Amino acid sequence: MKEKNNRTKKNEAFSPAEQRAARAARVEVSDAEPYGWMAHSEMDREHVYHLFCEPQTKRLVCTCADFIYRGDAEPGYECKHISAVLKYIGHQYLQLRYDPRSQYECAA
Ligand SMILES: [Zn+2]
Repeated sequence: MKEKNNRTKKNEAFSPAEQRAARAARVEVSDAEPYGWMAHSEMDREHVYHLFCEPQTKRLVCTCADFIYRGDAEPGYECKHISAVLKYIGHQYLQLRYDPRSQYECAA
């Protein structure tokens, strides 16, 4: 009985955002032409979603239904494709652009 309670607690410990992050690990991302990114999940290769950075808000926008419907109700909502693209951009940045000496230069 005690073990069962522990397991239940463990599942509840994952927030919706964390669950999306885990799913994002299975989304493949590539650069899109002329700008933005393409994302598709391993499970569903037929649906490819286009993501781009909205110039005014500097936030990523996705063409999937999850983002379109939930994004209106929840400002700043991130679908699993956005989570995956943010991770992809982060890796690209660290490998190609990141310079510890200039990290804080543009913050001023
Ligand atoms: Zn999406």
